[in-house]
Amino acid sequence: MPVLDILKYPDPALKSISEKITEIDPPLLSFIDDLVDTMRASAGVGLAAPQLGRLQRVIAIDVTPKNPGAGLIVLINPQIISAAGSKAAREGCLSVPEYTANIKRAADVIVKGITPDGKEAEIASTGLEAVALQHEIDHLDGILFIDRIANMKRDLFKRKIREG
Ligand SMILES: [Zn+2]
Repeated sequence: MPVLDILKYPDPALKSISEKITEIDPPLLSFIDDLVDTMRASAGVGLAAPQLGRLQRVIAIDVTPKNPGAGLIVLINPQIISAAGSKAAREGCLSVPEYTANIKRAADVIVKGITPDGKEAEIASTGLEAVALQHEIDHLDGILFIDRIANMKRDLFKRKIREG
């Protein structure tokens, strides 16, 4: 499956609201494979369809590289149905490669959605995975992590460009 180009800020697709998916068909499943492959090839812990220019509500998350045993999550039409607590953590985004920032989000979330095999899923999540779920669901509503920075001076960090 091909690794696709990730759109970079300020591409207008990243500011758009994605549409609800009404049918899980072979083109969608093939796109989901590309979404997961592109996330892995880019060493990201999550990726949302609009980052690949497809304005549909599907996300992939896999924090296993940082949290062994976490596993891959792919959710169609994901929705946060419960959020508790509050925590600030450093975030980055494959679409905003030059910056990281401290972002305050819910510490624990319950997210519901549909898996690629058409089953309803409800995922209770905490830690980095809960952050990633909120970050990726934001993408479906055209919200980037830089839109959630409380204090630009204090919380935004320019990333050192890796050489070579
Ligand atoms: Zn992102």
